[in-house]
Amino acid sequence: MIPFLNLTPGADAVEVRAAIDRVITRGWFVLGPELEAFERGFAAASQAAHAVGVGSGTDALAIALRVLGIGRGDEVITSPLSAAYSALAIMMVGARPVFADIDPARLTMDPDATAAAVTPRTRAIMPVHLYGQTADMPALMDVARRYNLVIVEDCCQAHLATCAGRPVGSFGTVAAYSFYPTKNLAALGDGGALTTNDPGLADHARRLRNGGQTDRYHHAEFGVNSRLDEIQAAVLAARLQWLPRWTAERRALARRYRASLANAPVAVPPERDAGHVYHLFPVLSDSRSALQGYLKARGIETLIHYPVPIPRQPAVASEQPAECPVADRVSAQVLSLPLHPGMTPQAIDEIAAALHAFHAAV
Ligand SMILES: *Cc1c(COP(=O)(O)O)cnc(C)c1O
Repeated sequence: MIPFLNLTPGADAVEVRAAIDRVITRGWFVLGPELEAFERGFAAASQAAHAVGVGSGTDALAIALRVLGIGRGDEVITSPLSAAYSALAIMMVGARPVFADIDPARLTMDPDATAAAVTPRTRAIMPVHLYGQTADMPALMDVARRYNLVIVEDCCQAHLATCAGRPVGSFGTVAAYSFYPTKNLAALGDGGALTTNDPGLADHARRLRNGGQTDRYHHAEFGVNSRLDEIQAAVLAARLQWLPRWTAERRALARRYRASLANAPVAVPPERDAGHVYHLFPVLSDSRSALQGYLKARGIETLIHYPVPIPRQPAVASEQPAECPVADRVSAQVLSLPLHPGMTPQAIDEIAAALHAFHAAV
């Protein structure tokens, strides 16, 4: 059996347990020293001035939009191919998601389609750095400048990624991260953070995540309860030390896939930037469901990210139907192969051999 993922702590297990024990012994579980230490460490690792820990990546996106003053009546342009939470975060603040189709090679927002989607109500662009590769940020920054829009980066799949050598999250005014258990940097539950270089926005986000309180029991504005708790922050701080190694491991596994999948009956999306962190390793196939079944019969687990483009989700379609033919096609073809730290090169070879054999079988 080759599982898609293994979420049980491995090389980091001793440090993860020690972190949890430390919090239990201290008896301080929310908004304490572990969160402060993690926020400092994560900001440094992301090369941002400030990090604010929140309850999830979705909340990080929504709070980012709120501190930028985006809400009812506003439009935010985003990608049709992502976790639906990207668009749900826009809807959570009362704004409207507008979808710009994706670039067929990079699989992230097409800058020309983004420019074409701008209306007088557009306030922001929310690029999603999908599968670990950044969107084309120089081109999207040009669009933002031309139309005077802010950028909120969805970095939920792109911890430590770079675009043309520049750290992800440094292009927009605010960036949002998820620490959901499957992400490159993962908590043992839900968690998220936003980063920014603006101290005023960071302070505002700290108030909003804590009910909008200025002082204890004084709620100056409408906030939410979305705090990264001490146990998760301690676990994340321990794992942050491992993240560069894990990222290097992901890149090495991806290189092995690329070499062994040359001439395989699947399309491998090109690596457009060496700063790719390989959150996922998708391939495209015209006969995806047959391929997925074939691999499953050989004990190889795969997943689909994502089977339904966001504008085709009933929860969103009423808000903003959009024609995104490239996203439609990719959603019908894309299949994620197993890739995670701790995976052996032999497992990659076995999966590649199965893909070549599928070619022979069809
Ligand atoms: C995981 C993810 C989210 C949502 O993060 P949660 O922590 O699950 O709320 C948003 N956008 C993208 C691209 C994601 O991968």
